[in-house]
Amino acid sequence: MTTIFTHTLGFPRIGTNRELKQAQEKYWSKKITKDELFSTGKKIRINNWKKQAELGIDLIPVGDFSWYDHVLNTTMLLGNIPERFKNKNNTIDIDTIFKIAKGYQSKDKHIVPSEMKKWFNTNYHYIVPEFTKNSSFTYSWKQLIEEVDEAIELGFNVKPVILGPISYLWLGKEKEENFHRLDLLAKILHVYKNIISKLEKRKINWIQIEEPILTLDLSEKWLNAFKFSYEFMKNSKKILLTTYFGSIFHNIETIKELPVQGLHIDITNKNYNIDLLCNNIPKKWLLSLGVINGRNVWKTNLNSTINTINLIKKIKKNICIGTSCSLIHVPIDLSVETKISKMEKSWLSFALEKCHELFLLKTALITNNYSLLKEWSKPVLSRTQLNKNIKKEKEEVILKIKKNNKYQKSPYSIRSLEQKKCLKLPILPITTIGSFPQTDSIRQLRLDFKLKNISSNDYETKIKENIKKIISFQESLNIDVLVHGEVERNDMVEYFGEQLNGFLITSNGWVQSYGSRCVKPPIIISDISRPKPMTVKWMKYAQSLTKKPIKGMLTGPVTILCWSFVRDDIKKSQVAYQLALALQDEVLDLEKIGINIIQIDEPALREGLPLRKKSWENYLNWATESFRLTYYKTKNKTQIHTHMCYCEFNDIIQAIIKLDVDVITLETSRSDIKLLKLFQQHNYINEIGPGFYDIHSSTIPTVKSIQSNLEIALKYISINRLWVNPDCGLKTRNWKEIKQSLENIVTATKNVRKKN
Ligand code: GLN
Ligand code: ZN
Repeated sequence: MTTIFTHTLGFPRIGTNRELKQAQEKYWSKKITKDELFSTGKKIRINNWKKQAELGIDLIPVGDFSWYDHVLNTTMLLGNIPERFKNKNNTIDIDTIFKIAKGYQSKDKHIVPSEMKKWFNTNYHYIVPEFTKNSSFTYSWKQLIEEVDEAIELGFNVKPVILGPISYLWLGKEKEENFHRLDLLAKILHVYKNIISKLEKRKINWIQIEEPILTLDLSEKWLNAFKFSYEFMKNSKKILLTTYFGSIFHNIETIKELPVQGLHIDITNKNYNIDLLCNNIPKKWLLSLGVINGRNVWKTNLNSTINTINLIKKIKKNICIGTSCSLIHVPIDLSVETKISKMEKSWLSFALEKCHELFLLKTALITNNYSLLKEWSKPVLSRTQLNKNIKKEKEEVILKIKKNNKYQKSPYSIRSLEQKKCLKLPILPITTIGSFPQTDSIRQLRLDFKLKNISSNDYETKIKENIKKIISFQESLNIDVLVHGEVERNDMVEYFGEQLNGFLITSNGWVQSYGSRCVKPPIIISDISRPKPMTVKWMKYAQSLTKKPIKGMLTGPVTILCWSFVRDDIKKSQVAYQLALALQDEVLDLEKIGINIIQIDEPALREGLPLRKKSWENYLNWATESFRLTYYKTKNKTQIHTHMCYCEFNDIIQAIIKLDVDVITLETSRSDIKLLKLFQQHNYINEIGPGFYDIHSSTIPTVKSIQSNLEIALKYISINRLWVNPDCGLKTRNWKEIKQSLENIVTATKNVRKKN
C-alpha cells in the first residue's frame, strides 16, 4: 500500500478575522495587556493546527506563527539583537520584537527601526537582520520550542519550521564596513546545531529548514557556505531542506551533496524538468513535492497534478506532497465570502481549500480512485473554456498595435517644448504624489457609503467637500501642480479593481503585508475592460475649482497586476496589455476633459522582476510596453508622469528610460538624493522629481535641509528638468505635519528659484 503524507509549509497567522492585527494594535496603544495579546496568539495558533489536522493534513507546521514577521523571529531565536534595542540587563521579550520592527522613543531620541524589505518577489515585507563584525549569537528566544511543545502536548503531529542559516544571512545586511556577513556563519551554526538537537529530542519526524535562496542565482561563495553549514549539521536525522518560489535545478550540484534527509521543491512552475531532477537527487532522500500553489487563489486542476505525481512516483518512491510555499500569501477561508457568485467560487481555493486539495490527492493516491479529483477539477476546466470564448478581439487589437509598433510618440524634446508652452509652470515646479491624509472621518465616510448608510448623493457631496478643501489648501501654499487627494480611494489597486470588468473583490480575503498591515488583493478572473470612466468625474470637479493644472491620477498596469491575484490561464503579459488598454480609455477621457497632466503610478515595477536574471529582459519588455500602451495616444502637450518608490532603481533604470514619461517622481529620502547620479550616468534626459520629504517619518524636513538637498540635486539634473515633491503619497501623515512640511518645501524652492 502507498504511504504518503501531506503537509503545508505554513499557515496564515493573522487569524480568520484579522484577530492578530486587532490585538497587536490594541497592545501597542495600551488597550490590552501582554497576556491578552498572548492569549489571542495562542488561540490563532491552536485554531490553525486544528483546522489543518481536521482537513487531513498529516504534518502540522509549527514555528510559522510570529508576532510580527518570521525573519524577525529568527533574529530573536538566534539572539541577534542590534545594539540599539538592547536593554541594561540584556534581556529580551515581546516588546523587543516590536521595537526592532517599529522603532521607539528613548527619552528624547527616536530609535530607528530595522529596515523592511520585500520577501523575494512577493508583497510580504520582512524585517532585515543586521550584522556587525562582532555580532554574537545565542539561543535566546524560546518561542519556537515552546510552541513545538504546546502542539505536541495537544497531540499534533508536529513539523518545526525554521528559516535556514544561509538564507538568514543572505537576507540580512552588514551594518559595518570591511567584513562580510558570511564570516559570521560558524558562530550562527553553533546556535542552529543546538536548536536542532533540542528539536530532535522531541517527538517529531521532520524539521523544515527553509533555504529559499536556493532558487536564486548564487555565487560560488554562497554555494560553498551551504556545503560548510550543512556538514555542520550532519548528525541531524530529520532535516527536510525546503525551497520555494521556483526551480532549484541550477543549484542541484551543491544541493545533492548536502547531508540532509529530504528536499522540498516547488513544482508549480510548469517548466520544471522533473525527470532530470529526480534522477539527480540521492535515492534515499524523501522528495517533498510542492504541488499546491501557495501564491495564488485558483482551484488546482488535480487531474493534471495527479498525473505529474504519478510520473514522479515511477522514478522516485519516497515522496510526500505539500503546498509549494507557506500559505501566508493567500486568504484563509473561501466559505465566508458571500458576495462572490457560486460559479466564481467554484474556481477558487484559499488556504483551507488548498489543504483539502492535498487531502484529495492523498486519498486518490492511496485508493487509486480518481473520481473525486475529476469532480473537483471540473470548474477549473470550465473557467478556462469560458475565458477562451470571450473577447478574442482584444488579443487581436494588442497584436495589431504591437506589429505596427505605433506607440511611438514624438521625442521628449519636442513634447517638452509644447508642454512648457501650454502649462507655463515656473522653474522647479512643486507638486505632490497624489494622496492626502486619510483621516478617520474619510474612512468612515467610505465605509458608510459601502454599507449603504448614506445615499450616493450625500457621499458625492462629502467627497467633493474634501476635494475642495484639498485644492484650496494647495493653492494657499502656492503649489504649482495640484492633486485631488484620492479621498475616494481605499487603496490604489482595489479602487480600480472595483470598477473594471474582469475583477473580483473579496470581502474578507486579507493577506499579511507586514506586521499588522494586511491587504486585500483583488482577483483578476477574466478579460479586463472598462465599462465606464473611473476617475473622470472627480478630476473634472477638481479642475473646475482652480486655474492651476490638476494632475490626473491613475495606477499603472504593472502595479495593478503585481498587487492582484492574477488568472493563470493566459500569460501575465497578456493581462498587463488588457489592463493597459482599459487605462488607455481612461487616459484619453481625462485628456478630453482638459486634464493636461496625467500621472500613472508604477511603484511595483521593480517588485515584479522575476527572481532569476535570465528572465528579467522578457519581463521588462512587456512591463514597459504595457505602460506605454496606456498613454501613447495622448497629444504632445499632455504631460505624462509616473511615480516609483522604495525600490532598487539600479535594476530598472533601463526600463525607466524606455517608459519615456515626461516626468518621473521618485522616493529619494531613504535611497539617498545621490540616486540622481544613476539617472545622470545613464544620460536620462526627461524631467525628474526626487522626493524632498520622507513621508514615512513624522519628522518635518527643515527649509535648510530641503534647500541643501535641492542644491545637491541640481548638480545632477539641470534646473529646467527638476521638480520638487515629497517621496510618496501623504495618506499616512496628518494635516499638521503635511502643512509644515509642504510650507518648508515651498519656501526652500522659492529661495533656490531666486538664486537661479
Ligand atoms: N498616488 C499614490 C499616493 O499618493 C501613490 C502611492 C504609492 O506610491 N504607493 O498615495
Ligand atoms: Zn510611492
